Amino acid sequence: MSTAAAAPSFDPCDPVAVAQALIRCPSVTPEDGGALGVLEAALAPLGFVCHRLRFEEEGTAPVDNLYARLGTEGPNFCFAGHTDVVPPGELKGWSIDPFAAEIHNGRLYGRGAVDMKGAIAAFVAAAARHVKAVKETGDAPKGSISLLITGDEEGVAINGTRKVLDWLQAKGEKLDACVVGEPTNPKALGDMIKIGRRGSMTAFLTVHGAQGHVAYPHLADNPLPRLARMLAAITAEPLDAGTPHFQPSNLELTTIDVGNPAHNVIPAQGKATLNIRFNDLHTADTLLAWLRERLDGVGGSYELDHFVSGDSFLTPPGPLTELVADAAERVTGRRPEYSTTGGTSDARFIKNFCPVVEFGLVGQTMHKVDEHTALDDLTRLTDIYGEVLRNVFDRIG
Ligand SMILES: [Zn+2]
Repeated sequence: MSTAAAAPSFDPCDPVAVAQALIRCPSVTPEDGGALGVLEAALAPLGFVCHRLRFEEEGTAPVDNLYARLGTEGPNFCFAGHTDVVPPGELKGWSIDPFAAEIHNGRLYGRGAVDMKGAIAAFVAAAARHVKAVKETGDAPKGSISLLITGDEEGVAINGTRKVLDWLQAKGEKLDACVVGEPTNPKALGDMIKIGRRGSMTAFLTVHGAQGHVAYPHLADNPLPRLARMLAAITAEPLDAGTPHFQPSNLELTTIDVGNPAHNVIPAQGKATLNIRFNDLHTADTLLAWLRERLDGVGGSYELDHFVSGDSFLTPPGPLTELVADAAERVTGRRPEYSTTGGTSDARFIKNFCPVVEFGLVGQTMHKVDEHTALDDLTRLTDIYGEVLRNVFDRIG
């Protein structure tokens, strides 16, 4: 625990200044680059109790995380996000230094500007303004505000949010509702709130046969016709037609590999990999059973390995989704759509602990060269998060 961080060299109420300070930390996953220190320096003087949490596991890089909480009462409302960023890639492609945080034509440029240092800056500025406003009223602050910030989201996500949540649970710390600041808006601020995500499972199929000469097929067992029939069987019909809050599940073959350089040899095995993005009708287990049923229908010897990045989840429309939608509508004049599209995020871990929704900046330039956010979006996102903080303790029990 540390509370004696140096005073920040920026105004924590100014989201642009906070975002610039964060972008100037080259926190390419899993490096911290000083980013969490910037947050501690901003949060500790506001009264947040900051816990720096470093997790390490054999075979993975150690990762720094931060849990900061203001207040000891419930409910505990949490802003969650990540300070790590994807690498800038070819520097030649950038028109500006990706870690200089320069402002041009009303836009802040830099790696992480939208994914998601900009949103974290908006968390901090909204919290700083909220603390100031509550102080001015002289009323006792309600509930607690916390920030759960990881440095391991863009990488393997092993030593990040998941472990922080375990640590919180072991300490008896409860989260009551959470907003993740991923860039959820496709085109303009106020477009979209993510209220869940599809699950993702990758499966690796190996079909076994017996190698032999193509001229003597009775002495061999070619696995490839079976592989072809298996792939046909699992792609013959859609997995489902979608559900009220989810698009249809989708199975995509990503590679078929035999690697046989000889035209006169029957190979001993053939492999295929597939990825399934699935909705709330399925779990990884039911999907594996679905796959096995079809593979067994073809028969023969095969192996099926798999890797699950996350199960699907949904925070059904209710107090939290309405709170964030109302705040976004109040500031942007538009009511965001509820969606479960796109890839996975750390919300997939948080959903096991409390209701969680995602709302952040406009995602158009995330992971691209010249990543940038409009300064106006940064200001309005801060206003939206501020509106959430103003109302959350009256609306979330
Ligand atoms: Zn992100």
